[in-house]
Parts: sequence; C-alpha cells; structure tokens
Amino acid sequence: MKPAMMEYYAPTGLDEAATLLAETAEDGGKVIAGGQSLIPMMNFRLVRPPVLIDLGGVAELTSMEATGSHLSLGAMVTTATVASSSLVRRDWPLLAHAATWVGHDQIRNRGTVGGSVVHADPSAEMPAAMLLADARLEVRSATGSRTVDAADFFWGYMSTALEEDEILVRLSLEIPPPGTRWGFREFAQRHGDFAEAGAACLLPPGGRPRVVAFGAADRPFRAAETESALAADPAADAETLRRAVSRDAEQAGVADRAKIRLLAAMVLRAAEMARQ
Ligand SMILES: Cc1cc2nc3c(=O)[nH]c(=O)nc-3n(C[C@H](O)[C@H](O)[C@H](O)COP(=O)(O)OP(=O)(O)OC[C@H]3O[C@@H](n4cnc5c(N)ncnc54)[C@H](O)[C@@H]3O)c2cc1C
Repeated sequence: MKPAMMEYYAPTGLDEAATLLAETAEDGGKVIAGGQSLIPMMNFRLVRPPVLIDLGGVAELTSMEATGSHLSLGAMVTTATVASSSLVRRDWPLLAHAATWVGHDQIRNRGTVGGSVVHADPSAEMPAAMLLADARLEVRSATGSRTVDAADFFWGYMSTALEEDEILVRLSLEIPPPGTRWGFREFAQRHGDFAEAGAACLLPPGGRPRVVAFGAADRPFRAAETESALAADPAADAETLRRAVSRDAEQAGVADRAKIRLLAAMVLRAAEMARQ
C-alpha cells in the first residue's frame, strides 16, 4: 500500500522547519528524517500525517564534533556514519559498535540517530546507547529550546518527552575517561533484526559501572541493581549478576521469566566483554 496524500515541505534551515512544524503539528504535521520507520508506518496507514516536513536539507542537523569533553551529534547524522566515524569510534566506541547492530546497510544509510531516538522503539540500539551515555538532548520549537536528559526522555512504548511541535536537534554525550571498558550484546533471530533482548555495559576506571537493558520492557532502562552489584564487586559472579538483573527487570515491569533469563544472559555477556 502507498501512503495517503500529504503536503510535503523541504525547509533548508532549522528556523523554517520549526515554524512549519508549529503551524501544522496540531493537525498532525510531522517531520521526516531517514523515513525508515515513518514511511513503513505511513504505507500501512498506521499514521496519516497531512503534512511532512523533510529535515534532509537542514544542514545544522548533520554536524558532528568532539569538543574535548563531549561528543556532539546532530540529529540527522545517519546510523551508518555513527558506526563508521573515526570520531565516534575514538570517543564513544560502544555507540559506534551499537550502531552496527541497527538493521541492515540500507537502513543504516538512511536512518538517523535522532529519528531512532524519537521513534523510541524499546528494542532499538540508539536509545539504549543514549541512556547509557547519560546523553543530553537539545530540542527546539518555534518558541525556544530546551535540553532533556536521556533518563527523562523515554516515557514508554514509542513515547517520549518530545512535544508535537518540537524537533530533536542535537545529542551531546560526555566522553568517558581514558581506560573505560565497555561491552554490548544483543540477541536477535537474525543479525539486523530488532533485539529480543540486549544490554550495554560501561566500566569507567574508578567510576560507577553503568548498565542498560533494552528489548525487554516498554523502554530501555538502567539496571541499577546490576550496577550496584558490579560497583560492590567488579568481578561479581554470574549468579549474583543474574539475581540483580532479575530484580532490575521486575522493577521495569518485565514479568516473563524467559525474557528475564534472556536479558540476564545478555547482561552477563556485555559485562564479561567489558571485564576482559
Ligand atoms: C527492515 C527494518 C529493520 C530495522 N531494524 C532496526 C534495528 O535492528 N534496530 C533499530 O534500532 N532500528 C531498526 N530499524 C529502524 C531504523 O533504525 C529507523 O531508521 C529509525 O528507527 C528511525 O530513524 P529515521 O531517521 O528513519 O526516522 P523517521 O522514520 O524519518 O522518523 C521516525 C519518527 O521520528 C520522528 N523524527 C525523526 N527525526 C526527528 C527529529 N530530529 N525531531 C523530531 N522528530 C523526529 C518522525 O516524525 C517519526 O515520528 C529498522 C527499520 C526497518 C525498515
């Protein structure tokens, strides 16, 4: 099936895009980034935006820079660029690695980091990586800008803190200290499929471990009990970690025992990868 008829705009600046969205959002106007989630949903008529505002020509959204302490990604940076960029691989290797798990080449070439974060699929890798990184998300409307912490951004299944007239502009990630080790693991039926469960683990030297689980609940979540177990004993054994993941999963509303076992296996592997 093809999408329903819509008006199409191709702004060349962020101000213009924000103004167009302000004028149309109330009636269902939407921005389109890589279109890798939105177009399929439109084809199936799950959404019928009467107006599409294409962010593809907005140059401000495609820049990427490292400022010493932070890595800053424009929302329109593609997942393929995240995966291959020498900047990201140097400053946030976990993020670059996570991006290689997103779909297939075609999806990564068109799909954007901002689109993935706003789409907020609970099985998606980019939202999980942003949560792990404690990323700060700069959002913009016609009336102003604000910054939202990744921890406050994901509200539930494909639901976020973004207002309907707001555009995600930039994602800013503090660069972990030298010597930080990391691990990332997910389980999918085939490489490139959405994860049935996944985990990412960051072990900064002398700092508190960070663990994120995804694909199991209605949103990615920080596994606080598992982080505490690793903080108390960086060499915590498999049984200790399994019990901690179980408590984290239950707190996140995961009731399915098989899912919790799968998630625990992914956390163990991510932690193992980081500890090697
Ligand atoms: C076959 C297939 C396999 C896939 N596999 C995976 C996978 O394994 N893992 C994974 O994570 N994803 C996967 N995806 C999804 C893919 O990563 C999408 O590209 C991504 O989720 C959305 O990014 P996009 O740039 O294409 O956004 P779009 O599809 O253009 O937009 C998605 C939503 O975000 C909104 N939006 C986009 N950008 C902005 C912005 N800057 N500000 C405000 N709102 C915005 C749009 O209005 C829309 O509601 C897959 C998709 C397909 C078709």
